[in-house]
Amino acid sequence: MAILSEEKKRRYHQLKELLQNYSRQYYIFDDPLVSDAEYDSLYNELLAIEQEFPYLKDNNSPSQQVGAKISKKFKKVHHEDRMLSLENAYNENDISDFFNRVHKLCNKSDVDFILEPKLDGLSCSIIYEKGILIMASTRGDGSIGEDVTSNVLTIQNVPKKIPILESVEIRGEVIMLKKDFEELNRQREANNEKLFANPRNAAAGSLRQLDPSITASRNLAFFSYYVSGYDLKTQQDVLNHLKQWGFTVSEHLLLCHDQTEALQFYKKIEKQRADLDYDIDGIVYKTNDLSLQKMMGTATKYPRHSIAYKFPAQQAETTVLNITVQVGRTGNITPVANLKPVTVGGVVVSRATLHNKDEIEKKDIRVGDRVVLQRAGDVIPQILHVISDARSSDSKPFEFPTRCPCCAAPLIREKGEVAVKCINLNCSAQLIERLIHFVSKDAFNIDGLGEQNIKFFFDQGLIKSPVDIFYLENRNSELQLEQVEGWGKQSVANLFSSINRSKNVTLDRFICALGIPQFGKTASKLVAKYFKNYKSFLQSIETKNLSELISVNGIGLSMIDDIKLFFTVPNNLDILKTLGGDISNRGLVNVQDVQMTREGILTGLSIVFTGTLQHLSRDEAKQLGENNGAKISSSVSSKTAFVVVGKNAGSKLEKANELGVKTISEEEFLKMMKKTI
Ligand code: NAD
Repeated sequence: MAILSEEKKRRYHQLKELLQNYSRQYYIFDDPLVSDAEYDSLYNELLAIEQEFPYLKDNNSPSQQVGAKISKKFKKVHHEDRMLSLENAYNENDISDFFNRVHKLCNKSDVDFILEPKLDGLSCSIIYEKGILIMASTRGDGSIGEDVTSNVLTIQNVPKKIPILESVEIRGEVIMLKKDFEELNRQREANNEKLFANPRNAAAGSLRQLDPSITASRNLAFFSYYVSGYDLKTQQDVLNHLKQWGFTVSEHLLLCHDQTEALQFYKKIEKQRADLDYDIDGIVYKTNDLSLQKMMGTATKYPRHSIAYKFPAQQAETTVLNITVQVGRTGNITPVANLKPVTVGGVVVSRATLHNKDEIEKKDIRVGDRVVLQRAGDVIPQILHVISDARSSDSKPFEFPTRCPCCAAPLIREKGEVAVKCINLNCSAQLIERLIHFVSKDAFNIDGLGEQNIKFFFDQGLIKSPVDIFYLENRNSELQLEQVEGWGKQSVANLFSSINRSKNVTLDRFICALGIPQFGKTASKLVAKYFKNYKSFLQSIETKNLSELISVNGIGLSMIDDIKLFFTVPNNLDILKTLGGDISNRGLVNVQDVQMTREGILTGLSIVFTGTLQHLSRDEAKQLGENNGAKISSSVSSKTAFVVVGKNAGSKLEKANELGVKTISEEEFLKMMKKTI
């Protein structure tokens, strides 16, 4: 029997934690941290360890779970029949195994299969009673999904009525057409909003909205492939009936019983893939006979009667022009390949991360090499391998620097870690990255203090640590910023006013701003919710009780190690206390307690903000409304309780007047919230 080494055990737990974290970001926040190919490769590594040491596996393992727990912002819907995932096949051998398994389970070798494109969207269940759409929900964790009925009602190709009286459940995929995705991202770019990584995430982010008018504006489409509650014999019948009832069904289908024929279909669709109006990521092979499907039953998270034969991710060839290394805010040195620009999956790619030293050595990537690049269904490109035949005879392996490219400190690599690090806390590249992070949108969100200005102030020696930001105004009589090239009276006044406004900071943003490794926006929210206020957070750091965080779902051991390590650096604790204060002294900023309840005087009311507000930023106004229970909507309807009107309000104010919806000023709103200006 194989012996489980400490290293493998550690890797297994690390994989579990990573995959759980990635799934949460992907399913709950529709904002993936890594490419699907990277997720799949880590997932397969976890499966391989579990196969070797099955006793490691428990119900908590990603291999046993469908999707992720649902977001709390939606009403829960219980799925009578679990909504499952699909087993993946990556090559012809996997498909042969699948055919053999089905033949064996059905005890015959002439089983019909139906092949359908695997649509890259998010699954959705829709219930009809007496022909009327009464409920729609997401898959969630397979058993409990999110109620998205009002949103699905806005999808144009979803029939709101169907011509049958039986209670039926229809399942399918909500997708966004490629052209609508491109248009949406164009608009978001113009508005300086974060771009969606791919049509799948855009579809998920658009469907999982509290405000159906946002979903309605996003042009989603629904492709169906499943019916329950209606007496049908085969999957082919299912698809035909769905079409008759008014649903959209994929036009690329094949009924066959032969593996070779199935493979030809897979290859044909793979060739057509780039020209389709929507993204697909494989072909689903389904046993056609529904009674055989039922007889075969399900494994933990997928049905035994079907399999998804995934397409390889989209690839292209290009040349490595140069390899540079970047210093991150935690000191990690990340090598980056600068590439001859090439189009992959419709996007021009000119840079690819090489992750770490091992990755370069393993793949032996050198300057001048021809390489195969992959975009795995999203925007994060990776170099798959070098085309070694094309390598010139005088090429030399890349020499990874031994000293930091910024401060020249020797680089180190801790035992068991993949990252090479610069551990000089005063390394200016790290200091700058940390400051950029500190003022970023998810942290202190200081307008007017972007990357360029941080670099400027840093180079001038005016901001070396976050604390300096809050002394800038006091020091201005000596600094005379308005005299500096590129600055004027107004821009300096605006900067100071954003800095002052940022001093009222929520605990989660405050924690996020500190830049503790692994504590971005999501994890910081979890920590803030746990401690509720700054004082208990500080107390737990000072009494070295941070291990208690293990009780928080979503915080793992390695994260706790990171937060503990962070506060062993005296300078970090000093900065924390100077900013937030200590037990007896106030700090430079006011860290607000976590609002535990969304109940308040606006509970159940939908409100809209329009125009430029004078005292609050949009984010602050929304937060204040939400803290008092309001639902913030982006458009005015007859259901809007009132509209808060700022300066230069336009069409929303007109609409409110037209519909007779109440309007109030920002001052009235603040008064209502019992806030003084
Ligand atoms: P999946 O999406 O790969 O496959 C199962 C789903 O396929 C079904 O639930 C169904 O919704 C859908 N589907 C599409 N067309 C279908 C058809 N014709 N018939 C039946 N079903 C059809 O599996 P999953 O469990 O939802 O997600 C796992 C995948 O998600 C991973 O392989 C990974 O690629 C991706 N993922 C990525 C990240 C990330 O961070 N990038 C994180 C988690 C998951």
